[in-house]
Amino acid sequence: MVYSMILLVFENEPLNPNVFVRPQTTNHFCVSQSAFKTSFASVDFRAKKTVYWQLSAKMGDNNQESVKYELLDSSVKTIIHKAQAIREKAYCPYSKFAVGAALLCEDGTIVDGCNVENVSYGLTICAERAAICKAISQEQKSFKCIAICAEMEDYFVSPCGACRQVLAEFNTGMEVYLCKPNNDIVKTSVTKLLPLSFTPNWVSFST
Ligand SMILES: [Zn+2]
Repeated sequence: MVYSMILLVFENEPLNPNVFVRPQTTNHFCVSQSAFKTSFASVDFRAKKTVYWQLSAKMGDNNQESVKYELLDSSVKTIIHKAQAIREKAYCPYSKFAVGAALLCEDGTIVDGCNVENVSYGLTICAERAAICKAISQEQKSFKCIAICAEMEDYFVSPCGACRQVLAEFNTGMEVYLCKPNNDIVKTSVTKLLPLSFTPNWVSFST
């Protein structure tokens, strides 16, 4: 399949909302949301986003279970608190969507991370990957579980595809706790979130 053009849409308004901005190639357009709506009036970008979140929340009903905070191990409670606390450090000036994550390592060490956005959007680093990178720099690479906390009242926020792949690099059996601000929690795992995952077991490099 050959793509003749790509259309990028900004949800936030640039300085001049009704003109194309930053054309990078002849077939590469960046437009404001208002210009997008003018040209494609039938498309409600925000509605699509809402549907996406709803689908995410319903994702894998068989692959997640609600767990009561009171019944969790103290170590899991601790990483949930750490994930909630590190959200305060998130750098998210564009989405305002702060996320915190905390890993429990096999030796009991806890490593946290928050999302770090970038004006290019594409270079944004999620909290989960930030935590993994920090852990590796501390010589940790055996992880038992991870807690992920965001600020969605209605939905559980789960790792994006990139983060699932990065978590699978280290432990497909890793438990994943998705946490709402009110301590509603669902428990799942990397295997459930990323079935048939591509892991280091699949490759061998000759030396
Ligand atoms: Zn992610």
